[in-house]
Amino acid sequence: MSSENIPLVDLRAQYLALKPEIMAAFEEVLEGMQLFIGPRQRAFEQEFAMYCGCQFGVGNASGTHALELALRACGIGAGDEVITVANTFIATVEAIAAVGAIPVFVDIDPETYLMNWQQLEQVLTPRTRAILPVHLYGHAVEMQPVMDFARAHGLRVIEDASQAHGATYKGQRVGSFGDIGCFSLYYSKNLGAFGEAGICTTNDADLAEKMRMYRDHGSRVRYLHEVVGANGRLDELQAAVLLIKMPHLERWNEARQAHAHAYNEQLRGIVDAVPVVRPWGTHVYCYYVIQVPDRDRFRQFMQEEGIGTNVHYPVPLHLQPACVPYGYKPGMFPVTEALAPKIVSLPMYPELTGKQVQRVIDSVKKYIGFVASHSA
Ligand SMILES: *Cc1c(COP(=O)(O)O)cnc(C)c1O
Repeated sequence: MSSENIPLVDLRAQYLALKPEIMAAFEEVLEGMQLFIGPRQRAFEQEFAMYCGCQFGVGNASGTHALELALRACGIGAGDEVITVANTFIATVEAIAAVGAIPVFVDIDPETYLMNWQQLEQVLTPRTRAILPVHLYGHAVEMQPVMDFARAHGLRVIEDASQAHGATYKGQRVGSFGDIGCFSLYYSKNLGAFGEAGICTTNDADLAEKMRMYRDHGSRVRYLHEVVGANGRLDELQAAVLLIKMPHLERWNEARQAHAHAYNEQLRGIVDAVPVVRPWGTHVYCYYVIQVPDRDRFRQFMQEEGIGTNVHYPVPLHLQPACVPYGYKPGMFPVTEALAPKIVSLPMYPELTGKQVQRVIDSVKKYIGFVASHSA
């Protein structure tokens, strides 16, 4: 049997490579004891915004908080409708609910698993205020038709780019198409801090200013609270980590793409589906998602092989207990619902070695062979 286990993600490898730099930065921050709204936060905001092709970056407490800040800055609140997808992480809906708005779902494209913009028209009502496309798994949503639809109907566009740092659509990075781009900087994302962190990107100075105010208790001047805000700042220790990691993001994304390429080459035609990359976009593989027969048995098999897998996500949001109040029923989003029991994510992180990738591929092939011989 093969030697070491291969986890779904290994975050220690990256930490160990950068440890001396990170520890030195932590020491500097702690010696200075300016832990919030400091120079590192500002430097990271600028650098990340520029990377995305945006003028302004607003660092904040988490990806969930980033979405909430963005919605609030756009003036979205009680009774407003926000169009999004049910195939995403719960945070997308939590943020919509947090501002008192209503999540309105459309189905997804069966190949990319991303928002099916052709359904936008069907769900448009006089209360629709925004579209919230999610660049899920690391692939860009087809933004042109989404933007055209939004402009035609006076809607805001807020991108959830939490899984797509650096992904592009027609050569332009995600987070720069809509009014605001929202990124989680959770430790397992393509760019991650060592605690909670998030950032919003925008080219609108007024929206940036509003988000800065909301994240800091609704104040621009200390103890003068212009609106009821929140405690949602990015702290200097997280910003220090992010500044150190930032120059590596491109190379890490390329490593992910190389692993995905190897997976694709050997698993296409073997498993039921490998990830699709549209010619107009790039994929940065936050998750590498395939479809296999008898998914749960597959996961068991892989576990016995010492290989970590996960499902992103097993229950579509419209069928979650938390979403019962919105009145969605099974059958309303057939593509999303058909997909959930079939998808599975394979190990994906930049530091995977070629040998490890090959071991994963060999185990997947072994499973497919095993299924074929047992159903014959
Ligand atoms: C991770 C994630 C979020 C939430 O980010 P947190 O930093 O964990 O709050 C939101 N949307 C998507 C698509 C995510 O993957």
